[in-house]
Amino acid sequence: MSETIQVRNPATLELIKELPVASPAEVAAAVARARQAQSSWQHTSFAERARLLYQLRDLLLDDGDKLADILTSETGRPRAEVYGSEIFYLCNAIGAWAKNSERYLRQQKIAPSFPLVKAKKAYSTYAPRGVIGIISPWNFPLTLTLGEALPALTAGNAVIIKPSELTPLSALFGADLVTKAGFPKDLLQIVVGYGDTGEALVDHADMIAFTGSVETGKRVMHRATDRLIPVSLELGGKDPMIVLKDADIERAAGACVWGSLMNGRQACTSIEADYVGPPMYQAFVDKVVARVKAVRQGKSTDDVDIGCMTSEAQLNKVVAQVDEARAKGAKILAGGRRNPSLPGYYYEPTVLVDVDHSMSVMSEETFGPVIPIMRVKNPEEAIELANDSRYGLGASIFSRDKSAAAKLAEKIESGAVCINDSLVNFIVLEAPMGGRKDSGYGYRHGADGIRKYCQQKTIVVDRFGLKEEFPWYPASEKKARQVRHLLNLLCHSGWTHKLRALKGLMRG
Ligand code: NAD
Repeated sequence: MSETIQVRNPATLELIKELPVASPAEVAAAVARARQAQSSWQHTSFAERARLLYQLRDLLLDDGDKLADILTSETGRPRAEVYGSEIFYLCNAIGAWAKNSERYLRQQKIAPSFPLVKAKKAYSTYAPRGVIGIISPWNFPLTLTLGEALPALTAGNAVIIKPSELTPLSALFGADLVTKAGFPKDLLQIVVGYGDTGEALVDHADMIAFTGSVETGKRVMHRATDRLIPVSLELGGKDPMIVLKDADIERAAGACVWGSLMNGRQACTSIEADYVGPPMYQAFVDKVVARVKAVRQGKSTDDVDIGCMTSEAQLNKVVAQVDEARAKGAKILAGGRRNPSLPGYYYEPTVLVDVDHSMSVMSEETFGPVIPIMRVKNPEEAIELANDSRYGLGASIFSRDKSAAAKLAEKIESGAVCINDSLVNFIVLEAPMGGRKDSGYGYRHGADGIRKYCQQKTIVVDRFGLKEEFPWYPASEKKARQVRHLLNLLCHSGWTHKLRALKGLMRG
């Protein structure tokens, strides 16, 4: 009997659907079908690809309620949030890729700088890689599957998505809409399964775009080395927020609470650690606590602000981190436990103070609704602590002095920094988004977010059609002398050397 996946609603723990797992042979067959579909898709125009993308956007909006229901049931997130993040993201992304892809992938003229090479005309082109494998986590089941597939498809590739085993349903629904929108059959396919299915995809695709944990990302990269296929890695984060003494404290507190609790803080760029100096510290803490206590947590179908966590394993990590912090002396000002009145994976929105970097809640990714606030002496200490992390994905700085904040932003070891804001870099689709250190490498969004799905090729064209070129055979002492003189004439910074070289050249 074949293996199956049971998809459960994390808010109620009810079984929603049971799906068969794709075996390695089925993954190989899916890749072969995708390769077939890609062979003609790669020749379609950007205008045609954009037309299909816009059709897909209409279908997503027409079926928005159905999609929101699926997303809500597989993640436990409130409906309003699902609309405001996942469906908003796809509408934004479709517009951006439809509009910008042709420009990003346009043939690029290359101007050689060395005088002896200027005689050559050169340009560079972007061709699709073939079949892209996308392996995704559970925290944004549509954004990180279909959303990641958009630039790959627009670049002329086929795509196979391996969604998280916890949340495959919205990706399956999205793939149906892709076909209904008129994209060729088999151009985008979903393979459902656990790690083994992901591994089979690594064994057959031409590139892997992986989003997930650091540990799995390393395993994927290791496996990909066997076939030397490229891998982009979007991994974990521990995004710091630094509040300077001249910050608008109300805005900072609001951005902190939203940036920490949106999607139950199960976003890769959630704010994960706050550093606040005197004299703002107490006022900031009070405002954050007041806002957190006003956050309504509950069933995703009710009128609430936040829902439950999607993964039981992640919930257990959050419980362990908060318990460890408490044992080491952290004070809990709000929450600090599983929500006793709800049956699913609900953890109460939590605020912790008196924390330090010996606690995993300040040093490891939490990925749950916990806001640890640490008192710091000055901005220098805040930067030092913010950089004292194995991660480097995003960060936020709050200050009324935007140029001082921008200078500080340069010192943070991360792929993005929001000034007086939180999380928003992810929705600026034209801006590259990527991580440093253990947060991975490679980019989504912007020109790099689509060029990664392409083979860049350089074409060099002879301009003059001479019968002979200088370096061609036969070699001779005279040619060697002439090259030496030429290099001295062009490159040596001493005038006497240049003069001597010129005389040498004239002598022949
Ligand atoms: P995970 O690493 O456990 O799983 C991610 C995906 O990899 C899943 O689809 C899983 O089935 C698959 N997988 C597991 N083992 C595999 C293997 N050996 N080979 C191939 N595929 C395999 O991550 P998760 O728990 O689903 O997601 C949470 C993590 O994702 C967090 O660490 C979070 O920070 C990260 N994340 C990062 C970003 C980003 O853009 N940087 C965005 C969202 C989530």
